[in-house]
Amino acid sequence: MRIVVLAGGIGGARFLRGLKEAVGPQADITVIGNTGDDIHLFGLKVCPDLDTVMYTLGGGIHEEQGWGRADESFAVKDELKAYGVGPEWFGLGDKDFATHIVRTQMLGAGYPLSAVTEALCARWQPGVRLIPMSDDRVETHVLIEQDGAKKAVHFQEFWVKLHATVPAEAIIPVGAESARPAPGVLEAIAEADVILFPPSNPVVSVGTILAVPGIRAAVAAAAAPVVGLSPIIGAAPVRGMADKVLAAVGVETSAAAVARHYGSRAAAPGDASGGGGQGAGLLDGWLVDEADADAVAEVEAAGIPCRAVPLWMTDVERTAAMARAALELAEAVRRA
Ligand code: GDP
Ligand code: CA
Repeated sequence: MRIVVLAGGIGGARFLRGLKEAVGPQADITVIGNTGDDIHLFGLKVCPDLDTVMYTLGGGIHEEQGWGRADESFAVKDELKAYGVGPEWFGLGDKDFATHIVRTQMLGAGYPLSAVTEALCARWQPGVRLIPMSDDRVETHVLIEQDGAKKAVHFQEFWVKLHATVPAEAIIPVGAESARPAPGVLEAIAEADVILFPPSNPVVSVGTILAVPGIRAAVAAAAAPVVGLSPIIGAAPVRGMADKVLAAVGVETSAAAVARHYGSRAAAPGDASGGGGQGAGLLDGWLVDEADADAVAEVEAAGIPCRAVPLWMTDVERTAAMARAALELAEAVRRA
């Protein structure tokens, strides 16, 4: 079975670990990774979401933190600080630095990011095919108001430095409009048997991937069923600040509102044109947590088949059960 997953960082990576457990080694999983969080620091190209997926699936992740390397040291960062060279707010460890040096060196030699990612994965053996959404530079910026003036800051500055404490007025994936999907992205979507939206951030992770021209249309037109899992449980983001960016795009922080934001791929109930992908949306199915069981009716009223199952990724077994539930729902809604 060919499974395609549109993934951000922590939420995407943890889900993928469960998915791999659920489907076993014979399944063919392609991950289309968000690169809108990428940032250039100290002359190096840093791809936080790609690396989180690679380290998590490859066994190098700092488990508690959810990003960066396990057993990390910070000698380089301390030395940079001694020179007065920042930013200090972005935590890059020594082992992690090596990844960014290799990546930057290969990019400098002319390799596209997709080829570089493949080369890095040759070491980590994540057990999935990890493709960046695009080889072109896309950087998410956030419009904020600071000291009475509006300004756009890099997503990492908003998220990591400001901890999303300043209201976001708009989220702008700079460069997305002229970016092209990386080689293999559109083919993987078209040839997929199942497409999954993991519980990744719907705005700055999955939303950014969908902002690359061609990707949203490919998902909407795919023969495979598209099933998503809610990153929101009980009106709050799980271990995150997704509410801050949902507000910026006018979406309420609830499992049902996120489903409606993605939209139904089928025509609305009662629509004379009938189903069959005529709707403007992307989802054929949506999973909410048991705590949000009363949201099921609301999601289904929006034309999206929905089930309530436990959605806390507390360990690999529970996460595998989530993945099985998503695959079951995909089978249930698969078009004849
Ligand atoms: P990021 O790029 O590292 O922010 O990671 P993602 O975009 O892939 O995922 C972040 C989202 O994961 C957050 O908005 C959380 O709501 C969601 N998340 C984290 N842990 C869990 C969990 O255990 N269950 C569910 N349902 N969502 C989770
Ligand atoms: Ca991210």
